[in-house]
Amino acid sequence: MYNKEYNTKWVEANREKVKGYQRKYRKKAFCWFDDFKFSMGCSICGYSKCGACLDFHHVNPEDKLFRVTAKMAYYMTPRTLEEIQKCMLLCKNCHYELHYKERQGDVTWEEQ
Ligand SMILES: [Zn+2]
Ligand SMILES: [Zn+2]
Repeated sequence: MYNKEYNTKWVEANREKVKGYQRKYRKKAFCWFDDFKFSMGCSICGYSKCGACLDFHHVNPEDKLFRVTAKMAYYMTPRTLEEIQKCMLLCKNCHYELHYKERQGDVTWEEQ
């Protein structure tokens, strides 16, 4: 389930690590997303199998600077990390379903 506090804590805990990755261990940045993915999974159904099937959904679209793709998440930079902090992790199915429902005016996250 989506837990903003957990998300924020995770980002805080990894901020320094990510800086480290950038400097010398760039390749290791690959690992962090797997770690994040498996500890978070899809906020709706818990899916965590394949990173390519997970999306970062901006909880508040007004905060959005750019779209965070799974590929970007694998090549983590501090800027991406900042953006991820504004997002919840959703699998493709749940993500598309959520936007579909939004368009229908059915469900908003505030209501759940
Ligand atoms: Zn899902
Ligand atoms: Zn979205």
